[in-house]
Amino acid sequence: MLLTLKGIVLHETNAGDKGRFIDILTKEMGVVEVYVRGAKKVTGKSTGITQLFSYAEFCIEQKGEKYYYQSGKPIRIFYGLRENLLNLSLASYFSELLRTAVLKGTKSGEILRLTLNSFHFLDNSTKSPDILKPLFELRLAAELGFMPDVLMCKRCMAHLPKRLVFSTDEGCFWCSDCYAAMGRSENPYIYSMSQSGLEMIRFITLVETERLFSFRVNDKTLKDVSAFAEGYIRHHLGANFKTLEFWRSIRHNNDL
Ligand SMILES: [Zn+2]
Repeated sequence: MLLTLKGIVLHETNAGDKGRFIDILTKEMGVVEVYVRGAKKVTGKSTGITQLFSYAEFCIEQKGEKYYYQSGKPIRIFYGLRENLLNLSLASYFSELLRTAVLKGTKSGEILRLTLNSFHFLDNSTKSPDILKPLFELRLAAELGFMPDVLMCKRCMAHLPKRLVFSTDEGCFWCSDCYAAMGRSENPYIYSMSQSGLEMIRFITLVETERLFSFRVNDKTLKDVSAFAEGYIRHHLGANFKTLEFWRSIRHNNDL
């Protein structure tokens, strides 16, 4: 059976001299592993289509549970992600999150759109990676169906407290007064947050896609939200990501 799938290559693995496996995040059916025959011998225009961070329309032959690349029409290749180590490290981390979380067979139009937009801003350096990272983590969580409860303090229902704490394992927040009154001991799932941090988390998880990348934020707020976003996605995907360690080591050596 022949399938036409629109998607982006997230990962590639050599399979000896004869070919490669590529993981494609597709609009129609989530992340699919596809075998590319004789990939090393292919030259010219078609080489680029199956390379890392290539966005294309792929013609795929399905045989049982296996998928074979036949041909493709390129839409965009994000060269800038491969040429800059900081961009590469963040794009690789996003790819690992997607390969972990997006199952084969699930319609993934919104997640593909989030990925393409994030790669676009990273590729042409028009948004800081420091902003793109928490934005991608939290929006991906929301698209995957485990967004945190961002509406009100779980105890007193205050909508916009000045100070609050978010919990990654319970996926909700309490105002500082309620949290103090609850008398809980410290735990690693708790992240303290300012009012502007709460507003940023609401924006990222609730706003319509068209406006998602249009906000400004100060450094302190970004730091708080970043810590929470990373803790939240790691808690829910239950994994230690090698690419996250790589990103940290590269980011540490690059002052933006
Ligand atoms: Zn409260």
